[in-house]
Amino acid sequence: MSNEIRSSTTTLAEMIAWLDQFAKERDWEKFHTPKNLSMSIAIEAAEIMELMQWTQGSEPIENTSNDSPIAEEIADVLAYLLRLASVLGIDPAQALALKIRKNAIKYPASVQPQE
Ligand SMILES: [Mg+2]
Repeated sequence: MSNEIRSSTTTLAEMIAWLDQFAKERDWEKFHTPKNLSMSIAIEAAEIMELMQWTQGSEPIENTSNDSPIAEEIADVLAYLLRLASVLGIDPAQALALKIRKNAIKYPASVQPQE
């Protein structure tokens, strides 16, 4: 399995494989319980909020490059989220598709008036 970073063409399955391998190589699987991973997701999400703490909220985020502080925290959340899905045997793409389908029923798009 290659860890080649191909950016937007990288699949979720490839990212999960990277993360699983990373954890296995370091013998971290024993620490990656659903409880610990769920807590880690929330902690890393709070780190995204921390970057905007004390701002007015309307000003633009100055650095949004892929190696910016906010991108690093987004990567942290994504990594723990994908590890949790992997540990639980959940396919995140299928879970998202099912959730979007449920939300489409719950929140139907309004019919746009014809001109
Ligand atoms: Mg972090």
